[in-house]
Amino acid sequence: MPDLHTFIAGLPKAELHVHHVGSASPRIVAELAARHPDSKVPTDPEALADYFTFRDFAHFIEVYLSVVDLVRDAEDVRLLTYEIAHDMAKQSIRYAELTVTPYSSIRRGIPDVAFVEAIEDARRAAEADHGVILRWCFDIPGEAGLESAEETARVAVDLGPEGLVSFGLGGPEVGVPRPQFKPYFDRAIAAGLHSVPHAGETTGPQTIWDALTELRAERIGHGTSAVRDPRLLAHLAEYRIPLEVCPTSNIATRAVERLEDHPIKEMVAAGVLVTVNSDDPPMFGTDLNTEYGVAARLLDLDERGLAALAKNAVEASFLDGPAKAKLAAEIDGYTESWLQ
Ligand SMILES: [Zn+2]
Repeated sequence: MPDLHTFIAGLPKAELHVHHVGSASPRIVAELAARHPDSKVPTDPEALADYFTFRDFAHFIEVYLSVVDLVRDAEDVRLLTYEIAHDMAKQSIRYAELTVTPYSSIRRGIPDVAFVEAIEDARRAAEADHGVILRWCFDIPGEAGLESAEETARVAVDLGPEGLVSFGLGGPEVGVPRPQFKPYFDRAIAAGLHSVPHAGETTGPQTIWDALTELRAERIGHGTSAVRDPRLLAHLAEYRIPLEVCPTSNIATRAVERLEDHPIKEMVAAGVLVTVNSDDPPMFGTDLNTEYGVAARLLDLDERGLAALAKNAVEASFLDGPAKAKLAAEIDGYTESWLQ
């Protein structure tokens, strides 16, 4: 479907589930590695492409951590963030809610205020230079326990940067029950932030119920296992609680065995508001345009269907009403002129 791929490449899009360090493309990693010559990450593009070819999940984690190790000071944070937006602009992404994990950087010695200033500086520059609007979801790295939850809530509530719109929870789900994070989500919600935890990616539907009832989730990161509970699917559809679906990521992490078996079809059939996202794009060898191509194949979408999918992300975003209307109109305008 070469024509459909060209259509997707130019389609104005919003992305709601994409991680900060997980978005470091080989080009960005090379720039960061050049700033830190003691790192074992190669700097020439060919060697780097090889380095980014994952043998298995353990290798993926190893590479991910070596990229985390390259983000050592505020300038690294600024460069990473700005260049992510640059990569997004090349894919016609107009708006993104980027999941940022301040705890990881602060623990590595970057002062909280400097970290927040770096991302905010990059956000303003990216909007001015590339026309990409960035907003933040500060997320708790679940595997780091309640200390990281306390620190993430503190930074979100006390420093509350202008671009911050939501509060999240990532990391492994197995052995990390959602309800223990309720007090931290309560604080973030009281401070005006939206609740968007990951849930039901590697565990069952009960984790999604917990995210809804305990963490007052307004959107669910992944929610892959929702299809195992018809009552939950009906609830998500009735209350218009969107799912942030990341098909290729689900295959890479083995949350779903084969793309052909991906539950996105059942989610859409149940009337759930489904959005398509890339999660950790270069790490999973994908990008948002590729994910739209995957969705087109799995859901049998034509141009209008893809435009509707793009508008789902706009509707599910935390943009204000006029900004949503503007981006939706841009999607419609692009689609109609393409089809003429
Ligand atoms: Zn994620």
